[in-house]
Amino acid sequence: MPEIRQLPPGVINKIAAGEVIERPASLVKELVENALDAGATRVDVAVEQGGLELVRVSDNGCGMSAEQLPLAVASHATSKIRHADDLFRVRTLGFRGEALASIAEVSRLVLRSRTSETAAGAQLEVCGGELRDAGPCGCPTGTTVEVHQLFFNTPVRRKFLRSTQTEMGHVAEAFTRLALAFPQIHFSLRHNGRPIHELPPADDGRGRVAAFFGDELARDLIAVASCDQDVTLSGYVAGPAQSRAHPRMQYLFLNGRAIRDRALQHALGEAYRGLLLTGRYPIAFLRIEMPPELVDVNVHPTKAEVRFQDSGRLYSQLLGTLRSKFLATDLTHRLEPASEAGEATGMDARRANAVREELVAWAKGELDSALATAEPGDDSAAAPAPVALFPHTPLQLNRIDRPFPAAAAATLTGGARTVPAAPPEPRLAPRTPPAMQVHNRYLITENEEGVVVIDQHALHERILYERLRERVAGGAVESQNLLVPEPVELSPAEAAAALQAGPVLERLGISVTAFGGSTVLVGSYPAMLAATPPAQVLRDVVELLLAGPRSPEPRDVLDELLHMISCKAAIKAGDRLSADEISALLEQRHLAQDTHHCPHGRPTALVFTRQELDRQFKRI
Ligand code: ADP
Ligand code: MG
Repeated sequence: MPEIRQLPPGVINKIAAGEVIERPASLVKELVENALDAGATRVDVAVEQGGLELVRVSDNGCGMSAEQLPLAVASHATSKIRHADDLFRVRTLGFRGEALASIAEVSRLVLRSRTSETAAGAQLEVCGGELRDAGPCGCPTGTTVEVHQLFFNTPVRRKFLRSTQTEMGHVAEAFTRLALAFPQIHFSLRHNGRPIHELPPADDGRGRVAAFFGDELARDLIAVASCDQDVTLSGYVAGPAQSRAHPRMQYLFLNGRAIRDRALQHALGEAYRGLLLTGRYPIAFLRIEMPPELVDVNVHPTKAEVRFQDSGRLYSQLLGTLRSKFLATDLTHRLEPASEAGEATGMDARRANAVREELVAWAKGELDSALATAEPGDDSAAAPAPVALFPHTPLQLNRIDRPFPAAAAATLTGGARTVPAAPPEPRLAPRTPPAMQVHNRYLITENEEGVVVIDQHALHERILYERLRERVAGGAVESQNLLVPEPVELSPAEAAAALQAGPVLERLGISVTAFGGSTVLVGSYPAMLAATPPAQVLRDVVELLLAGPRSPEPRDVLDELLHMISCKAAIKAGDRLSADEISALLEQRHLAQDTHHCPHGRPTALVFTRQELDRQFKRI
């Protein structure tokens, strides 16, 4: 029987660190939150090499005394709660008392702090969880925390950290969330000594938005506010002229804490239904304030997700607030410019204008009727009008679960979203000879030489591969945006591989973004694979990435992925084809540069020459 042992504190802290501290950006989040909890009005963040070398956060908050410093880095030591009941009354950003202990375990940590009651400050140094040095030091009131060489003693985790640039991107994103959530606090951010942001206190959030995202966006913001009993909602949303192809510009703050919430994201999308083109996401900076007992923030290690007591009510409040605001706002001039709208849907400018007018009329006239009934996930309650305005409603696009012949046939006949019908090429296109399908897998036809037996899957795969390769080279892969990006839970290694391959995947029309922990969000994926669920596409891609050589050339990875996608999208052996599908397939044979072999190297066609047949039948 294996012995059950109590783990030493160092191991416990390392485990905790795994949950709370993922990368340098997590340090920025935890340390700035501590500064804000300490009542700071000014917080300065400095990082070196994307935070891989150093993250330093200085504040002018209440500080700690010399005796408190060792407690601050002890696990489960916090000044913020005392009893279990307090968990449901938390008004501070932190409360678990494990951030500093975890950080100290996996880095070289230096703490300097002074309270207003003492003349001298105190300093404490911890290296990989071991106390190194403690003593007095001169410093201003407040606290400075330096974290050097994160994960220096956990090489496996250090290896998962990305380039300086990538890590700095995450640091900047964490900083942005905090600075947007607390506009009244003076923030600064420096990278390698260079100032990145200097943000003096601002009265309202609009100035902060301008500082991060530019004046143009800030000017276009529509202020929203509402109150439903104890729950207040306030902030800004952008007009429909400003939207994104991803939901990352939807900042939601719950009692000052940046959160992700799929239901609220959905409510946002619903509020803009009909105002944005398919696959576009509204931009929002919204704060929700509610009594802490109405929400459980203790359900996620980094508190990025929360559980609302009444999420349906909050959903309705958000949707209602936005829709009534839109009704009262003249959105005409805020809609997408004609050229853009026309381009994106393939409509001409006149049609786009007509659509726009219809939209405004609809938004003004019919929004309110839809409003009363809409509930999370209840798509039927959404206003019916946009169905007529656009060829497809976003939610239908989200899931095209057509079984084989429809989806694959679409790619065959070229009428699909996959690949536009090839322009007529009278010179090259051979006369399509009649063919018959046998065993639902081979096509039999003839040419001058003799009888040709074609493997339907291999040929289709080859054609798709060639076309896809051409489109990738031209940067024009058709991808399908998901209305609600799909979270896919992976192992940490898989998630890292997927995110690292991001740029390559992007070229294939697959967009993945980190979603905390080892979950990644699939925002779009190749239209060719409409019949395959996005999560499955991503899992297969990741499997292929991990199966490959250690540091594969992006070009090889891309080629492998092209093969995989074409194989998946192609008709299968066993698929019965209609006469039209057979001739469509044969007509496209010339598009493939090398139709004799499928990308896996198997032949796509065999020829039995007339001479050979004559010989076999003993005619010659
Ligand atoms: P938590 O924030 O969950 O309480 P931490 O490990 O982040 O846990 O911090 C432990 C304790 O150290 C805090 O409760 C607080 O008392 C103290 N502390 C940490 N950072 C600061 C700071 N910047 N200023 C003052 N006190 C701090
Ligand atoms: Mg904390």
